[in-house]
Amino acid sequence: MSEREFRLRDTMSGQVKKLETVEPKHLRFYACGPTVYSHAHIGNFRTFLNADLVVRTAESLGWKVTYASNITDVGHLTLDDVADASGDDKMERALKSKEGEQFANIWDLSEFYTEAFKHDWSRMNLREPTVRPKATQHMREQIQAIEELIEKGHAYETPTGVYFEVSTFEAYGKLSGNRDRDKLQVAVRDVVQDDNKKSPADFALWKKDDDHLMQWYSPWGRGFPGWHIECSVMAHIYLGETLDLHAGGEDLVFPHHECEIAQSESVRGKPFCNHWMHVRFLQVEGEKMSKSDGNYYTLRDLVDDKGVDPLALRLALISVPYGKPLNFTMQTLRDSERNVERFRECDRKIEAVLGTVDDGGAPSQELERIYGEALDAMCDDLNTSVAIAKALEGAKVILRDTNLSEDSAKAGLWFLDRINGLLGFVRSDYGPDKARENGDEAEPEIDGKTVSEWIEERAAAKSRKDFAASDAIRDTLIAAGVELRDSPEGTTWVKKSKV
Ligand SMILES: [Zn+2]
Repeated sequence: MSEREFRLRDTMSGQVKKLETVEPKHLRFYACGPTVYSHAHIGNFRTFLNADLVVRTAESLGWKVTYASNITDVGHLTLDDVADASGDDKMERALKSKEGEQFANIWDLSEFYTEAFKHDWSRMNLREPTVRPKATQHMREQIQAIEELIEKGHAYETPTGVYFEVSTFEAYGKLSGNRDRDKLQVAVRDVVQDDNKKSPADFALWKKDDDHLMQWYSPWGRGFPGWHIECSVMAHIYLGETLDLHAGGEDLVFPHHECEIAQSESVRGKPFCNHWMHVRFLQVEGEKMSKSDGNYYTLRDLVDDKGVDPLALRLALISVPYGKPLNFTMQTLRDSERNVERFRECDRKIEAVLGTVDDGGAPSQELERIYGEALDAMCDDLNTSVAIAKALEGAKVILRDTNLSEDSAKAGLWFLDRINGLLGFVRSDYGPDKARENGDEAEPEIDGKTVSEWIEERAAAKSRKDFAASDAIRDTLIAAGVELRDSPEGTTWVKKSKV
């Protein structure tokens, strides 16, 4: 196949442009992950799905992808979105809520929602990131980065914390266009908490707080880091000084990503990231999604309660290109279920001829052309609506053949494998959903104990607060290909497929 250009809209320049990588054919990609204080909703998943489509498109082009997607498990405050880390900590607030009563402490809450998120992630058939770092695992590096910013004259300490001095970074505002300092100050004046700050626009790197439920020792006393510094630091640790691509929801352009740029470029003196991608929000039945309006959906609401096929939900959420608002409706979901079923029909038809869906053959000219057009569409700023239409066109070709020959069946399989690699809604990388829950297959024995015995041992370790032991058990099982899923009903296990 001839060389294709992968083009994406870049928020910084406002242009759809070629995604250039520092190392040829190696994409180093950071996507902001969730704050684990509740279940992620389908709008969050629209963002993660489009990051996943970037990974899949790059892989389909034969690129190597190093993909980091973090877990924010401390420091994201309710008013972070408008200003400088004021308001309540989102995790602490969740612990104090009605739902929070089931958790022993904030660490428990964080672990529960992290595991729930990872479960949802696999149900949405998202590619496993190369690394999924947690903010709390990188406290030392964050403290070091803040010390460096102070040394270089970009940050200062006050009685309430350490702040980044926006006026020391000339390019502040280059991503969001919020360059007018006066306006910026007006915008945040109402929520400024600290009169000792040099400018209202200065944002928090470290909050001093003896009462915070998650706190660490630092040169400035006990406290916790600001949300923005976490992502800057984790991106540098895993991806190097200049990233190829950074993605997030449209709400992250300002202040989160603007602040990441300011911190990172002030410390390193090098461009932080060469390409920025932001995913538009979705609406539900034409309205803004909100808990109080009853149109707010998590995967639990749709997949567990309504029995929606997770792959159909995936298809519905990617049906509109990421740069346009998506109006999510129950009709979209029904259409998607029907379309996903067409691909299952293809699989069944092929399996009837070949006895397997594991081993594809050479493509037919027609299916090769259609796949090429689907890949072209994805390389054209992730044009999912065209790519999905092409996938369906290929399914039609397979289904119209009433007497499928062995060669045609193999060509069909070639097509389905590639379309699934690109769009991910034909089959789950994590195996059929039912087989994922325990009970459907024989329980493996690991180091002389059954998985159930390990689960009991881990529960005992947890109840005596020996988290090192409980983590070690989980790691042993992961190494043996068994993943644990914690829920209020108890712990279940699934066998991981080879991916
Ligand atoms: Zn982030």
